[in-house]
Amino acid sequence: MNVLLTNDDGIQAPVLRHLKEALAPLGRVIIVAPDRDQSATSHALTLHRPFRIQQHEPDVYSVDGTPTDCVITSFYGLLDQAPDLVISGINLGPNMGEDVFYSGTVAAAIEGSLQGTPAIAASFATRTVPDFAEPARFIARLVGRLLTEGLPRRHLLNVNFPGRPWPELRGVKVTRLGSRVYHDTLVKKVDPRGRDYYWIGGEDPEWEPIEGTDFHAVHAGWISVTPLRLDLTADTALAELEAWRLEK
Ligand code: MN
Repeated sequence: MNVLLTNDDGIQAPVLRHLKEALAPLGRVIIVAPDRDQSATSHALTLHRPFRIQQHEPDVYSVDGTPTDCVITSFYGLLDQAPDLVISGINLGPNMGEDVFYSGTVAAAIEGSLQGTPAIAASFATRTVPDFAEPARFIARLVGRLLTEGLPRRHLLNVNFPGRPWPELRGVKVTRLGSRVYHDTLVKKVDPRGRDYYWIGGEDPEWEPIEGTDFHAVHAGWISVTPLRLDLTADTALAELEAWRLEK
């Protein structure tokens, strides 16, 4: 079995080593990750310039592109055999609620799902991580279950670990995506040459405290596992829209 491991924080992300070790019993683990931090690049593809791939050691590659580039190249010729499984993460920083739309971590797993393999995106709800080894082993166990149980086509798992030491985690909750309260800001300043520049910022996200959501679980100390599906069709709105009786 070929396991593709990527991480939008870049090839230097220290957790990659731990994940590789934890996933090794499953088969061959190949790391293909961006050569620098590509967080919040969502599902971007590099189409307007060529990009290069550097091999660092056997089965370890960096790409001067996006997380999705990493997955695409792995399926379309970089590797001698296409991946059978895609693991993305474990990201430093949460990917919950609507933030999954911005996330390079989730996008890489989505790309794996689009290519037809089981896929897991995983994130720490903190940027200071006390322990990589136990979360990496948890992901390996989850992969085992995913492979035996299976998921419907175009479905994947999104995992978020609370920012607490492993012994303090209460367990696992299966959750739905929560809803973020946005406080993003746009900073406008003037550069030394007199031209305006802009920088998107924002405070730490706040969330609507709804039970059953990823945020609620993580905040209470549970590992959150959310099944995601790629069909975004709003089934509940179909009939309503039919009632509009749209005409050309
Ligand atoms: Mn990231």
